[in-house]
Amino acid sequence: AKRGGGNRYQYFSTNMTELALRRLSLENNLHRAIERNELALHYQPILNIKTGKFSGVEALLRWNSEELGCISPAEFIPLAEETGIIISIGEWVLRQACIQAVSWLKQGISLTHMAVNVSSIQFLNKGFSTLVASILAETQLNPQLLELELTESTLIFDEGAILIILQSLNALGIKLAIDDFGTGYSSLSRLKNFPINRLKIDQSFVRDIEEGAENAAIVVAIIAMAESMKMNVTAEGVETAAQLNFLKDKRCHEIQGYLLSRPLPATKAEIFLKNQS
Ligand code: C2E
Ligand code: CA
Ligand code: CA
Ligand code: CA
Repeated sequence: AKRGGGNRYQYFSTNMTELALRRLSLENNLHRAIERNELALHYQPILNIKTGKFSGVEALLRWNSEELGCISPAEFIPLAEETGIIISIGEWVLRQACIQAVSWLKQGISLTHMAVNVSSIQFLNKGFSTLVASILAETQLNPQLLELELTESTLIFDEGAILIILQSLNALGIKLAIDDFGTGYSSLSRLKNFPINRLKIDQSFVRDIEEGAENAAIVVAIIAMAESMKMNVTAEGVETAAQLNFLKDKRCHEIQGYLLSRPLPATKAEIFLKNQS
């Protein structure tokens, strides 16, 4: 009786099967990505407006799977989180970023911070701050130069528990940043109790600075708030000169975006950082 519906069902079901197969194949390959040496970090230089120098970088994970080709972090990070693989991948990222920072410092590059993204699963995993401490000890990186980027969604869990982890990380001497600031639901009253060093203004606000007075107002408000809480503030996703000028004018501390540089493989990032002075 329902012939049309039947067809639709078939179409739907084929689609679901494809999705499930893709997921399964991603998962199988992701499990072996570290041992197969398929992961790499790219580094996006960050401009300090006051000094006019690129002295920070953000490490961004890349996966070039032998079987599946290049997969975007937007696709594999959520899967890595759901499956728990993010714990071992996150550890690899942290170690690799610290090793790279030490290598650049030894070559005379004046790095002020190596920013590393941390998933909430990783952050809430028991012993995370101990792991960070041991990687710092192992790589001999000055803790002051390591900055962990946490998303607002990480900070909405139980306040007491979060504070304990943040304080133990803060006690190591490392820096803590809130990524994609303005897109989550963290309450400001809570934020002021946390040892946070930096707010990163989400690129969705930066993108529309020129068009909407509203977004410009949000950006200005975040900069003022960071200022009053004695935090640093970085704008990300800066793609146009107009956006850069606006942010400079509003005294945003640091700028990151395609206008200045895309994330670069380590060798290219090294040349970029060396060539600027
Ligand atoms: P994110 O931490 O917010 O990183 C910024 C993203 O914006 C990066 O995408 C970067 O390449 C991109 N981007 C930088 N400048 C511009 C710009 O001017 N315009 C536009 N349109 N985009 C720009 P990417 O590398 O694809 O990473 C996506 C997300 O995946 C990251 O967002 C982060 O949430 C996650 N991610 C990446 N690496 C890691 C990692 O090592 N660990 C964890 N847990 N998450 C990671
Ligand atoms: Ca980030
Ligand atoms: Ca971000
Ligand atoms: Ca993001």
